[in-house]
Amino acid sequence: MRTINIPSAFNSYWGVFLTLGCNYTCPFCIQKLAGEVPHYDIASGDKWVEALNSIEGRARKRFLRGNKVRKLSLIGGEPTLHPDFFDIVNGLDYNWSLTVTTNLGTKAFDDIGTFAKKVKRKKKIRFHLSFHDGCADTDEFIAKTRDLKRAGVNVNRIFTVCYPPDEPGRFEEYQSIFKRNGLFLRKQRYNGFYKDKLYPSGGDESGFEFKDNITDYEEYHKGCSMKKKEPVYCKVNKILFAPNGDVYNCHYKVYTGCQDHYGNLFSSGPTINVPQDYFLCDDYGHCNPCDWPYAQFKEM
Ligand code: SF4
Ligand code: SF4
Repeated sequence: MRTINIPSAFNSYWGVFLTLGCNYTCPFCIQKLAGEVPHYDIASGDKWVEALNSIEGRARKRFLRGNKVRKLSLIGGEPTLHPDFFDIVNGLDYNWSLTVTTNLGTKAFDDIGTFAKKVKRKKKIRFHLSFHDGCADTDEFIAKTRDLKRAGVNVNRIFTVCYPPDEPGRFEEYQSIFKRNGLFLRKQRYNGFYKDKLYPSGGDESGFEFKDNITDYEEYHKGCSMKKKEPVYCKVNKILFAPNGDVYNCHYKVYTGCQDHYGNLFSSGPTINVPQDYFLCDDYGHCNPCDWPYAQFKEM
């Protein structure tokens, strides 16, 4: 059986972009910050399951407790648009602890009972639900969320991106509506441009329960200015798989289909080396806010 080794710290962020396609067209979509979303071929569920389950070093023994296993986020775009979504979540072994982030707006959620039955994996899976103001219908989103919980689906977090950033009041109202329905809607600061200004522009995150953890705003505004690019030494504690299996360590590069990847999960190996220390990047200035606060920089 094939084995794949991707050396990386055990607590580093690992994410699979099953597709960059989405059922919504949110004006604040962070994927589109650098322009049009690139086209990637979609890999089949069989390929994802076979390759991801072949990755070594995903479990660590713990004294008197079960193994600690590596976390894996299934993201997009909208991951439930992948035609083999259920085969993937059910086929990944229990050396993965899965988080699926979904907007609840796809056909997969037309019948919540059917959705819950099709997710046969009953442990080491949790769902983060993103409520998209202006795209999702509030009552429908709330009803689906409540039905998911009643059906035993592990809804871990419900969050919304506060866009536009200059109208914070409307998100308090949404929070009240969710609260009346027994749900806690976490607010996340908007990261990106609005009226030619990059947000967040400063301040602390008190009142925002879904954290971006940006602390160095000067660095953030320099790195994500989307003006000129300059070389820098960068260190990013991430492993990201594009929809075709290409391996990256930076969101900007996934979202631009950059040739600068470190191999392909389905065809490279047995070891795929992603830099664990500072490496030279020429794209500083066009970084994506999603890489904060993971990215660290050293000037040339
Ligand atoms: S739901 Fe998410 S991925 Fe889809 S358009 Fe909106 S922000 Fe982008
Ligand atoms: S400098 Fe920016 S674009 Fe380059 S790898 Fe780091 S986070 Fe990504």
